[in-house]
Amino acid sequence: MMIKNWQQDSRKTLKSAKQCNNFLQTKQFKEQNFSIKIPLEFANLIDKNNPNDPLLLQVLPKKNEQSEPSEFCSEPLADGKNSPVAGLIHKYPNRVLLIASRVCAIHCQYCFRQNFDYSKHDIFSNWAAIENYIFSHKNIDEVILSGGDPLSLSDDKLQILITQIEQIKHIKTLRIHSRNAVVTPSRITAELVAMLEQTSLKVVLVLHSNHAKELSEKFAKMIQKLQNITLLNQSVLLKGVNDSEQVLSELSRRLFALGILPYYLHLLDKVSAAEHFLVDDKLAIKLHQQLQKNLSGYLVPRLVRDENPEFKTWMN
Ligand code: SF4
Repeated sequence: MMIKNWQQDSRKTLKSAKQCNNFLQTKQFKEQNFSIKIPLEFANLIDKNNPNDPLLLQVLPKKNEQSEPSEFCSEPLADGKNSPVAGLIHKYPNRVLLIASRVCAIHCQYCFRQNFDYSKHDIFSNWAAIENYIFSHKNIDEVILSGGDPLSLSDDKLQILITQIEQIKHIKTLRIHSRNAVVTPSRITAELVAMLEQTSLKVVLVLHSNHAKELSEKFAKMIQKLQNITLLNQSVLLKGVNDSEQVLSELSRRLFALGILPYYLHLLDKVSAAEHFLVDDKLAIKLHQQLQKNLSGYLVPRLVRDENPEFKTWMN
C-alpha cells in the first residue's frame, strides 16, 4: 500500500510526556488518563518560551485537583443513549452522526469523547444495520461524519463510505467535522478535494479551530483548494486559550479571510479532567455580546451548549 504524504505527516507526532518535554523545552507534561498526541506540525506552532501558549494549553494534560464531587463526568453527552445502532448517533430528527473513525491526528485534552468506547462503534463492520436504520427513517436528509476524526480515514475508505451514503436517496447533505485538516493540513490532498467536489451530495466541511494561531500558512494554502465546498468552523470556548473578545475576533477575521465562516462557539462539555478549561456562562454570554457589538453578523459564531438530546441550547 502506498503511504501518502499526509499519512507520513500524521505519523510525525509527539506521543509521550518525555518527548513533549524534550521537544517543547518544558517540564509541564506528565502522563494522565487521556494519552498525549501532538502532530509535529502543530507542536512547531507552539511558542516554547510561553508556558501559557494557547496551543500548548489545549494539548497539555492536567490532573483534576478538585476534591469535591462535580458535574464533570467521563461521558458528558452520554452518546451511547442516543445510539440506536452501533456507530450511529441519532439526536436530531433530520440528521444522524456516524462515528467514522476512532483516530485523531491530535489529542485535545478538553475532548468530550476521550472516554468513548470506540471499539463498540465500528461503522464498517456494522454498515448493514446502519444503512437499514437510515433507509427506514426517511426524514433523515443529512449524514454527519464525526469520530475521532473522519479525515483519519484513507481516501479509499472515505470514498467507499461516501459512495455507500450516496446510495441512500433521501440523504442530500454530507457534513464532515474535522480537526485533522487544521492540525495536519497536508490531509487536504488532491484526491480528497476531487472526492468532495464530485459526490452528488452537498458537502459541508466543519473545521475545528479554537485560535487564529492554529491557522498556519500551510493551512491557508491547502484550504484554498476546497473553496468549492461550504466551509464552516466550530470552536470550543476554553479558559486560557480563547476566552477573550480579542482572540475570538481575530479567529473570526482570520477564518473569513480564508473563506471559512464561523459557525458555532461551543461551551465546554463537562468531561472529567477538563475542569480547568471551563468558562462560566456569565462570561461566555458577555464575550458573545461583545462579539455581536464589534463584528459583522456573519463573523459571529452561535454560542451553544450541546446538552439536550432534542436540541442545541442557544445561549444568547
Ligand atoms: S480532534 Fe476532536 S475528537 Fe479528536 S481528540 Fe480533538 S476534540 Fe476529540
